[in-house]
Amino acid sequence: MFVCGPTVYDYSHIGHAKTYVQFDVIVRYLRYLGFDVFYLQNITDIDDKIIQRANELGITTKELSEKMEIEYYRDMKSVLVTSVTKYSRATDFIDSILKQVKTLLEGGFAYKINDGIYFDLSKFKEYGKLSGRTTPEAEDAVTRIDESVQKKNKGDFCLWKKSKPDEPKWDSPFGFSGRPGWHIEDTAITESHFGPQYDIHGGARDLIFPHHEAEIAQMEAASGKKPFVKYWLHTGFLTANGHKMAKSLGNFVTIKDALKSWTSQELRFFYISAHYRSPIDYSEKSLDKARKSLEKLNEFMQKVNHGKDSFDAELIEETRKEFTEAMDDDFDTPRAIAVVFDFVRKVNKAGGGKKAYAFMKEVDEIFSILTEAEEEKVPKEIVEFVKNREKARQGNDFKKADEFREKIKQAGYAVEDTTKGPKVKRIKKIEK
Ligand SMILES: [Zn+2]
Repeated sequence: MFVCGPTVYDYSHIGHAKTYVQFDVIVRYLRYLGFDVFYLQNITDIDDKIIQRANELGITTKELSEKMEIEYYRDMKSVLVTSVTKYSRATDFIDSILKQVKTLLEGGFAYKINDGIYFDLSKFKEYGKLSGRTTPEAEDAVTRIDESVQKKNKGDFCLWKKSKPDEPKWDSPFGFSGRPGWHIEDTAITESHFGPQYDIHGGARDLIFPHHEAEIAQMEAASGKKPFVKYWLHTGFLTANGHKMAKSLGNFVTIKDALKSWTSQELRFFYISAHYRSPIDYSEKSLDKARKSLEKLNEFMQKVNHGKDSFDAELIEETRKEFTEAMDDDFDTPRAIAVVFDFVRKVNKAGGGKKAYAFMKEVDEIFSILTEAEEEKVPKEIVEFVKNREKARQGNDFKKADEFREKIKQAGYAVEDTTKGPKVKRIKKIEK
């Protein structure tokens, strides 16, 4: 399985996190079923956006892409994405890219003009078969980047771009040094790992056209084998408060910023509460709803951890069957979650213990949404703060008590005063 990875020129936002969390859940589920999944992602570490941003910042493209690649891994770790087998950088596959471009040139699918090597769309009649779009419609921001007056057809895209004097460049057998076009790195990387055909290709919805069409054209033309991939999975868009998220609209939320208000588990639950193909709206209200739902599940976990299993003996088998039926139906996570809540309701009624607990943990191997186990482990330091605050309160030193409350808060916890004494709760993701 291959999923289009990030272009490492900036911090990732919560729309990226949606895509990668949803594919993380999909891969974890496939592995849960017993499939041996090799999950590959590319890292686009050379492209126009990286060159432009590096110039703005006055650093080299390598400095920028290396920094942002590390940030990307941090972000993925922070939203508990653990399923990726391998990341491959475009610049580590220049030889494979050159080889594929050469094959396309020799096969008559590509041609050379003054500023690069281009794919000739008139030679690949099936272009548009994934999106249902056809060549004359090819007017896209991305295809416009590949604009050259010498191009044979409007939608022809660049495979190998002649570098401008101050741009990064690699030697090529084409008579000029240059850099890869956007689409070619993916097929060069996947061919290197999987060969010309593989099972699953994923990505965000906006990549269907022209990016994935271009990939199909490149690989099927180069290999003469089809289909290039068996299954295409595309994630729906994320909007923020009903609007498309964009820097210019001021509603651009990075993963880092989102995690200041919400936990990793809350974000994950929010994403998978909608089907991966569906659009989803990020708002205080929707995340708050996720938080409340998760509180119920975590409370349930604490309860059954100390309880006794008194529910119907068949309940877990039945629930597992319904759960897998939902997930088998194009990874229908909202339905699978409904099955879990139904289970919780039934167990709550009858009484549950270790078996119910273990089943929930089994589900959480796929979702990673429960925090119950973590919450039991409040750091010693925090426990000390809480004790000292309580002492100060008893002694009517409220200034000191407030200072401790602030320290607790700074550490990512909240203290609540209940009839049974102070209760500590994790309120945000702790930066490690
Ligand atoms: Zn891609």
